[in-house]
Amino acid sequence: NRQILLASRPAGEPTVDNFKLVETPVPELQDGQVLVRHHYLSLDPYMRGRMNEGKSYAQPQPLGEVMIGGTVGEVVQSRNPNFQVGDKVVGMGGWQEYAVVDAHQRGVLQKVDTTHIPLSAYLGAVGMPGVTAWYGLVKIIEPKAGETVVVSAASGAVGGVVGQLAKVRGCRAVGIAGGPDKCRYVVEELGFDACIDYKQHRDVRSLASALKEACPDGIDGYFENVGGMMLDAVLLRMNAFARIALCGMISGYNGEPIPLQNPQLLLVNRVKLQGFIVSEHMDVWPEALKELGTLVATGKLKYRESIAQGIESAPEAFIGLLKGRNFGKQLVKLI
Ligand code: NDP
Repeated sequence: NRQILLASRPAGEPTVDNFKLVETPVPELQDGQVLVRHHYLSLDPYMRGRMNEGKSYAQPQPLGEVMIGGTVGEVVQSRNPNFQVGDKVVGMGGWQEYAVVDAHQRGVLQKVDTTHIPLSAYLGAVGMPGVTAWYGLVKIIEPKAGETVVVSAASGAVGGVVGQLAKVRGCRAVGIAGGPDKCRYVVEELGFDACIDYKQHRDVRSLASALKEACPDGIDGYFENVGGMMLDAVLLRMNAFARIALCGMISGYNGEPIPLQNPQLLLVNRVKLQGFIVSEHMDVWPEALKELGTLVATGKLKYRESIAQGIESAPEAFIGLLKGRNFGKQLVKLI
C-alpha cells in the first residue's frame, strides 16, 4: 500500500519535500472493518490549511501520518455485514492506495450508486465541493430570479457549480477566472452569461470596470473563493442589501496578506457577509446532494476534471492546485 505522509510543515508555498512516499503492508481486517481500494483521491485547497501548525477550524494534520483527503473506491474485503465486496464507496481514506476503514462508525463510509453518476463525481459536483456551492448559494446568498450572482475561481470544482445553480434559479451568472481558456469554458460549456479574466486586469479599478460591463444591473450575490483584488472590485459594484458567501480565500493560503481597500462599502450597501464551513452543515447535505445528483445524472450540471496519474503525482498536483494549474476538479487516479 503506497501512502503519502506529511513530512514537514511548509513555510509559505508547499514543496514536494513537505511530503514523503512510503510503502506499508495492508493490515489484517478486524471485525467491522472493510478494505477499500481507492480509485480516485480528491485534492482540495483546505489541505493547505491542515499542513500548518496552530489552531484553525480543524485540527492540523499530524506530521508523519497519511495526508487526509476524500476518496472514492471499491470494497475489496469486508468483515462488516453492511458492506459487500464490489460496493462503490466514498470516504476520507487519505493519500494512499488502500484504506482499512472502521465502517461500523456512522458516516465514515457511504455507498454510492454509479448507474447514472460516474464514481469520480462523488468527489466533485455530487460531493463536498458541490454541496459547498449549494450551501453558499442557496442558504447564504438566497438568490431570487433576475438577480446577478458573481463567483470567483469560476471554472473550479465549487465555482462551476455555483454559476450553474444560479442559472437554474433564473439569475444572471458571472464568473471570474484566470486565463482565456478557463473563461471560454465557463461561458460556452457551463452556460454562465459572462466571465472575466482577472489576469487581464492589473488593479481594482480596471477589474471593477469589467464587472460593470458584465453586470449592468449591479451585483446582488457574490460567492467568494479567492479574496484580494476580486473582493475589492466586487464591493465597488454591489447593490444595496447584497449578500456575500465567504467560502474561501485561496489567494492567502500560503500566508500572503489579503488587504481590503474599501470595507466601508459593506456598511454603505448594507451587505450581509457570512463565512461558512460545509462540514458543519450536514443537515443540508441530503437535500443538496439530491438536487446535484439529479442535475448531473440528467446532464444539466456540467463539470470538468484535471486528473493526475498515480499516488506519486499527488504532491505536485496539489502544489499546482494552489497555483491555478488545475482546470476543474483536481483528482488523482489510482487505478
Ligand atoms: P478549484 O477547483 O477552484 O481550484 C482552485 C482555483 O483557485 C485555481 O484553479 C485557481 O483558479 C484559483 N487560485 C489558486 N490560487 C490563486 C491565487 N493565488 N489567486 C487567485 N486565484 C487562485 O478549488 P475548489 O473549487 O475545490 O475550491 C474553491 C474555493 O472553495 C477554495 O477557496 C476552497 O478553499 C473553498 N472551499 C471552501 C469550503 C468551505 O466549507 N468553506 C469547502 C470547499 C472548498 P484560476 O486559475 O481561475 O485563478
